[in-house]
Amino acid sequence: MKVAITNLGAIVSGDWRNPFAAGDTILTDGDKIVSVGTASSAAVEAADVVIDAGGMTAIPGLIDSHVHITFGDYTPRQRTVGFLESYVHGGVTTSISASEVHVPGRPSDVEGVKALAVAAQRCFAHYRPGGMRVIAGSVILEPGLQRKDFDELAAKGVTLAKAGFGAVKSSYDYVPLVADAKAAGLITTCHTGGSSIPGSGAITGDHLLKMHPHVSFHINGGPTAMPDADFERVIRESTMALQVCTAGNLRTTLLCAKLAMQHGAFDRFIIATDTPTGSGIMPLGMLYTIAHLSSLTDMAPELFICAATGSNAAVYRLDSGRLKPGSAADIVLLDAPDGGTQSTALAAIKHGDIAAIGGVITAGMPRFVGRSRNTPGTTRRARVARSSVMQDFAAPAH
Ligand SMILES: [Zn+2]
Repeated sequence: MKVAITNLGAIVSGDWRNPFAAGDTILTDGDKIVSVGTASSAAVEAADVVIDAGGMTAIPGLIDSHVHITFGDYTPRQRTVGFLESYVHGGVTTSISASEVHVPGRPSDVEGVKALAVAAQRCFAHYRPGGMRVIAGSVILEPGLQRKDFDELAAKGVTLAKAGFGAVKSSYDYVPLVADAKAAGLITTCHTGGSSIPGSGAITGDHLLKMHPHVSFHINGGPTAMPDADFERVIRESTMALQVCTAGNLRTTLLCAKLAMQHGAFDRFIIATDTPTGSGIMPLGMLYTIAHLSSLTDMAPELFICAATGSNAAVYRLDSGRLKPGSAADIVLLDAPDGGTQSTALAAIKHGDIAAIGGVITAGMPRFVGRSRNTPGTTRRARVARSSVMQDFAAPAH
């Protein structure tokens, strides 16, 4: 399928160093973006579906890099079916598993955690709830895992490893496990802050600096923050990604953003939700954190949209998160919410409002055009101007 999105008011690129793309049109072919900016009328005419964005803002589909995936579109923690599809209506087009720790009765022995990671990776390799891409299968680091186990997992397609919920005696016991997982090519991640599971112990700056995972998970706290002084240490003394999460400490989220920018580390600043957890299911969590950061700092909203898209993609080696030719065709149309005081999506976010979503395209397929099930209504109107496929792409009535 070829899709043309025309009449865009602004295009956010996903690259915070160069956050806007010029022009008003995006073309996709199959699951890739083929052009961003201007397009010939012949190219627009050749599209199977033409979406008139009505002046809305296009952003790359949001990448939530901390989601508690289990199996299927189901969260045992909050006993809810269909939450991932609901997140698509919050603009999330990719979710990355924070490890399958919420699987009831999850194993903790070496063979068990390996099998769990492989099974999760396989179950989401082609299954797209609501059109969302899910990167699942993050092996939970448990004592006894060895380099050969990580090599085996990598060969089987597992890309992620997570420190923080294993049966270690001390958090320093993760140091050799993280090193072996890294050596096998896995992207390593680590719980940060006070223990979220009773008895699992706090992980602070000192632990992180000794382990040096690729990503400090919820560095702002999940949900309990580490000491303030540790933020600057981790930023200055490491190269790890600084993931802030909606379900954490808001004050340290703001602290981390300011310090990351101040120390030239904003490439490493990434946004996620850390849901579903005890904090609930948050389909608009990414939009909330983007709005909190934009409205409570003096930094521009497009920077935080990039931290939620292109910067996550760079850390997790994904082909999405950017609006540029060759990237995955994952696109969200944003607008000022109806009835608010602001006239564009970015102004509304800076104002602290939740932007309205007027359409989501994943893998080059419009999943809905018009009204999101979860955000406020849009000010402008996005519509399918022409379609040669038997689908009107309207969101189901609610
Ligand atoms: Zn988590």
